Amino acid sequence: MDFKEKIRIIEDFPVEGISFKDITTLIGNGPVFRTLIDNMADKLRGQNIDYIAGPEARGFIFGVPLAYALGVGFIPIRKRGKLPAETVAITYDLEYGSDTLEIHKDSFEKGARIALVDDLLATGGTISACARLIELAGGEIASVDFIIELTGLKGRDKLDGYSVESVVQYE
Ligand code: AMP
Repeated sequence: MDFKEKIRIIEDFPVEGISFKDITTLIGNGPVFRTLIDNMADKLRGQNIDYIAGPEARGFIFGVPLAYALGVGFIPIRKRGKLPAETVAITYDLEYGSDTLEIHKDSFEKGARIALVDDLLATGGTISACARLIELAGGEIASVDFIIELTGLKGRDKLDGYSVESVVQYE
């Protein structure tokens, strides 16, 4: 199935110069969405994954059905102040300023094998912070999976040492 064809490109959104990859057209198509999740689940099956983790908000869109398909739990990685119980947090640099991400401290057992999932790999800033957060909490990153990879931004370089997969690529 040609997943790339289902992704809509919006030029100059949210600011001039950004070629925005809009996944709403992909997830809005039931058979396409299901095939995408089934394909990703097939790749992860047999890798002894204990949990799927993904950052809000688009990491939830793909991470939750994937966890359901594999029959494993989902760990939400959230912006600061959203999770009600005790958390582990990480602060990372953005182009301007910084951001903090959190997970619940008791969301998995030490040594759990976790597959990280997000919609898109751009610079890799967000996902590498997520990986460090999981490791800080005692988890092991089994793989890092994206729907889309913007290869020109070399986000993979920030994920050195991890097994990184993407379904569709743009330069
Ligand atoms: P980054 O930390 O640079 O890898 O990007 C983090 C997040 O920003 C991605 O997971 C996307 O949700 C979003 N993002 C960045 N660039 C784009 C783009 N060109 N089109 C759509 N979403 C983007």
